[in-house]
Amino acid sequence: MCGIIGYIGPREASSLIYGGLKRLEYRGYDSSGIAVLNGDGIAVERAVGKLGNMDSKMGALQAIYQAAAGQRQTGIGHTRWATHGGVTENNAHPHLNIDGTIAVIQNGIIENFVEIKHELQAEGVVFKSETDTEVVPHLIDAFMRTGQGFEQAALSAIKQ
Ligand code: GLU
Repeated sequence: MCGIIGYIGPREASSLIYGGLKRLEYRGYDSSGIAVLNGDGIAVERAVGKLGNMDSKMGALQAIYQAAAGQRQTGIGHTRWATHGGVTENNAHPHLNIDGTIAVIQNGIIENFVEIKHELQAEGVVFKSETDTEVVPHLIDAFMRTGQGFEQAALSAIKQ
């Protein structure tokens, strides 16, 4: 029952995403997070508890837009209702692959995540959270390492 917002466009992404998450607050949640492309990579801010606990972290995300002089922005935001893993900042979404190039937010439960997690761990992937969600960015990454492009790798991950 959590909330998901994504944005690509000319406006400052993080504030727009924050506003969207605010409108979805009624759905209930225990933590939140926002990721924005910053030109170099992905900037991520997360907080436990009320969305207002993100307020002190929003400046860092808003500064990306100012630094990029109004260029098109891309971002995602999430309010989490924990199913796998405690209510911690570490378990709040978005979750990233090892080199921080893929950020994922997700609603619901990945029923076969234990099996996938064990396979990825056997390949050397070190997990940073206790969530089921974190298998997704690592799995997309694993498919990309076999030569698939991002879109195909994302489809392959979802299929698995
Ligand atoms: N299963 C995921 C988690 O525990 C997503 C829960 C949700 O729908 O917010 O992080």
